[in-house]
Amino acid sequence: METRIIDGAALARRTRAALTERATALTARGRQPGLAAVQVGDDPASKVYVRTKMRVCAEVGIYSEHIELPAATTEAELLGRIRALNADPRIHGILVQLPLPKHIGSDRVLEAVAPEKDVDGFHPENVGRLAIGAPRFVPCTPAGIMEMLAATGIALDGRDAVIVGRSNIVGKPMAMLLLHQGATVTICHSRTRELGDHTRRADIVVAAVGRPQLLGADMVKPGAVVIDVGINRLPDGKLVGDVAFDAVLGKASHVTPVPGGVGPMTVTMLMANTVRAAELRDA
Ligand code: NDP
Repeated sequence: METRIIDGAALARRTRAALTERATALTARGRQPGLAAVQVGDDPASKVYVRTKMRVCAEVGIYSEHIELPAATTEAELLGRIRALNADPRIHGILVQLPLPKHIGSDRVLEAVAPEKDVDGFHPENVGRLAIGAPRFVPCTPAGIMEMLAATGIALDGRDAVIVGRSNIVGKPMAMLLLHQGATVTICHSRTRELGDHTRRADIVVAAVGRPQLLGADMVKPGAVVIDVGINRLPDGKLVGDVAFDAVLGKASHVTPVPGGVGPMTVTMLMANTVRAAELRDA
């Protein structure tokens, strides 16, 4: 079977072009969308992620602020900054770059973000809204994956979907979205016995683990759609996903590459959520 590679970078470019038009229309009415990214400490990976987000904001026409706070920032200080951003009319979306230093309670911080500015979709109110099928902001990685699945034209209704990984930012919201589209969803994790028994019967597999090439060809059903969320750096510096990409070529019907798959769509959905937040306030 010929495997189609789902080009996340190309889909991201098309989606960003449409978002640029919406952002431009808002700006013309004096309501330019605005995103604030709050980063505590100087974790190098977080810095790269936030800079990428800021760069894409500029590309789409979103005003952005990168708020860099020292690692010694107290939880009270951080909560104060978030309250100020909640009240700032230039800012429609607030993201708190994770992980936060250990002395700060992430749950309390994420709950402090005003739900109508929570463009990462991590506030309990937005998590609850997604769970009941009335989403406001959907977490960006699963939202991007749904766009990629839609672009393939694959019907999800009645399909077996297996998600490997149960994090709050990827696995769990992914399960909700697929469930709402009529898929029969299984979530696997580190305590799952015989992972391959689950993945081998899946029409759609989403790997969100963080283990290089955990899913080999022997774990994938012929014709399955394979979505690789993982980003892993090998000792030689090469970036690989959670799926053995070359091995599933010829067996899967579709697969996402790493890099150039889920990553570009994740940052694009952050832009989509920010534009939407601005439109909702403008309405
Ligand atoms: P987490 O570390 O929060 O979650 C990983 C999940 O994988 C956990 O649920 C864990 O189980 C499960 N797991 C670990 N080992 C195994 C195993 N051997 N078999 C089955 N399940 C296992 O990670 P995230 O969800 O935040 O991210 C997952 C990956 O996706 C990472 O590589 C991350 O870098 C990448 N990522 C990529 C993004 C993108 O834009 N492309 C965005 C976000 C993440 P348990 O819960 O039992 O511990």
